[in-house]
Amino acid sequence: MRAPARLGIPLADVDTPALILDLDAFERNLQTMADWAKSKNVRLRPHAKSHKCPAIAHRQMALGAVGVCCQKVSEAEVMVDAGITNVLISNEVVGRTKLEALAQLALRARMGVCVDDIRQIRDLSEAMHAAGATIDVLVEINIGGNRCGVEPGDPAVRLGAAVAQADGLRFAGLQSYDGITQHVRDPDERKARAARAGDVTAQTIAALRDIGLECETVGGAGTGSFAFDGMSGVWNELQPGSYAFMDADYARNTPAGGDVPKFEHAMFVWAIVMSRTSVGQAVVDAGHKVLPIDSGMPVPFDRPGVRYERPSDEHGCLVAELDSALPDLGEKILIVPSHVDPTANQHDFFIGVRGMAEGDGTVQEIWPVTARGCVF
Ligand code: PLP
Ligand code: MN
Repeated sequence: MRAPARLGIPLADVDTPALILDLDAFERNLQTMADWAKSKNVRLRPHAKSHKCPAIAHRQMALGAVGVCCQKVSEAEVMVDAGITNVLISNEVVGRTKLEALAQLALRARMGVCVDDIRQIRDLSEAMHAAGATIDVLVEINIGGNRCGVEPGDPAVRLGAAVAQADGLRFAGLQSYDGITQHVRDPDERKARAARAGDVTAQTIAALRDIGLECETVGGAGTGSFAFDGMSGVWNELQPGSYAFMDADYARNTPAGGDVPKFEHAMFVWAIVMSRTSVGQAVVDAGHKVLPIDSGMPVPFDRPGVRYERPSDEHGCLVAELDSALPDLGEKILIVPSHVDPTANQHDFFIGVRGMAEGDGTVQEIWPVTARGCVF
């Protein structure tokens, strides 16, 4: 497949639409999070569902990550094939085909997985036993997100005990993640919600200890809550993903003050104005196939007064009160995705550009999004 760029060309010559990575901002984001985790003495296990790209996972590992998270078995296969040897599937895995594939992975890499039901424990154990494999198991608790997760306290303890006794399974601790907290706009509310989750998590850790089970890992946290969770003394392994790229939806969170680190936009979609027939409107060649809109509208980068709206499959409209604020026919612009995870999944390559802040920038890396479409 032809990539929309070649190494060494200027950004201006990159074809559209393309997934652009500002390498300078991206590297600063990775370093900032790695340094912060080290300074707080918590482990970092970045979520690879945000990029699905082994080249990026290797860069996160090189900065001290203990491993990566994946959400799907097929995604984990890509990471293990690429030499990432420590992967947590931060999710429940159900169904014989997936369990057999997971057991094969557990023979090749240090693998972990989550459970929230005794039936998953039984099937997982059977699959590991059949393959002669062992897997780390985290009991996922519901800390308020009301998605997956058994209730904290006794129900979680019962599952922990079952894991500890099951063949091929190693009780490794708790998965405690709340996706809602990540996007609570007000930092005080976000902090309070994270603190409540920390309390129930701590109570469950203590109840497990009462029956002799130590939580070697207490995993969770995303880009919106990692600082609160990382300083709580409850979580010891953080799983943020979006921090590496920062989307427009995370930019709608009011940042927390203090020494909570900030991240820069590093992922963009590069688009060209393909039609300019009405005053106050420019049509670009980037619609919701390349800029998913589940988290609201993407935002034109560094274009005050210009909004992106009414996306269709392959078109998006840029609108402005002042026509002169809009790019003209043939001009290319950067657009900040509203949600990085599904955006990466819609592209075959990251086009890594260096020197964007100084002007045009040059293509220095082309990385395949190898786990694109690995949703099974
Ligand atoms: N951990 C789990 C279990 C998740 O589901 C997610 C994202 O939804 C994350 C971590 C990473 O979150 P973020 O990309 O918001 O940093
Ligand atoms: Mn996401």
